[in-house]
This record gives sequence, C-alpha cells and structure tokens, in this order.
Amino acid sequence: MTDCIFCKIVSGDIPAEKIFENDHVIGFRDLNPQAPTHVLVIPKKHISTINDIKDEDKALVGEMFLAAQQIAADVGLSGRGYRTVMNCNEEAGQTVFHIHLHLLGGRAMTWPPG
Ligand code: 5GP
Ligand code: ZN
Repeated sequence: MTDCIFCKIVSGDIPAEKIFENDHVIGFRDLNPQAPTHVLVIPKKHISTINDIKDEDKALVGEMFLAAQQIAADVGLSGRGYRTVMNCNEEAGQTVFHIHLHLLGGRAMTWPPG
C-alpha cells in the first residue's frame, strides 16, 4: 500500500532502526518507546488489522512471534520476560493500520494494561 507508513519502512522509503529482518518480517525500534526495549515486528506483506488476517497468513503470523522470540533473545530478555501486544482497531488504540506486534521489555509490566 503506497500510503502506509509501515509499508514505506519495509520498502526503505522511511528510515527506521531495523534490528531484525528475514524474508517475511522486519523488526525495528518504536519511535516513541514505552519501555527500555520497544520493538515493532511487522510482516512485509500489508495486512491492515487482525480482522484481515486470512487462513493463508497463518505461517506469516507465526513468523512474527518467532522474530519476537529471536529479538528478545538478542537483547537479553528471554529469561527476564517481555510482553507482546497487538492492538486491533480504535478502542484498543491501533493507530497504524498495518499489523504490528509490539515487543516490550526491560522493566516490570503491570496488569491489566490500561
Ligand atoms: P499502535 O498504536 O497502532 O498499536 O502502534 C503504533 C506504533 O507505531 C506506536 O507505538 C508508534 O510510536 C509507532 N510509530 C508510528 N509511526 C512510526 C514511525 O514512523 N516509525 C517508527 N519506528 N514507529 C512509529
Ligand atoms: Zn502497510
């Protein structure tokens, strides 16, 4: 999608601090971090919301979690713990309509989330 900022990060038209990439997904640091580690894992394919994930995307969504697992290991969070969050639509606080898995860590998290 030409007007999607995360598609532009995938294509390199918008810069990002990329810390993970494979054929299917990329991981980059959030512009407005909410924890010492705040990384966004996104598929290279444009999917707007969780509601738009199709049966054919099952493996791709798995790739997003495997990337998060790898990034967490790389930054030393596997044992300490970390949180993954994907917001869907307005009431959940989704602001960018290209699915992204937030990977948050490096501080104690509270529950329930706000
Ligand atoms: P959402 O609110 O949709 O779940 O999360 C969107 C996230 O994307 C926010 O945490 C926001 O800080 C981040 N974000 C928005 N635009 C950019 C950008 O251009 N670059 C980066 N690295 N992060 C962005
Ligand atoms: Zn997109």
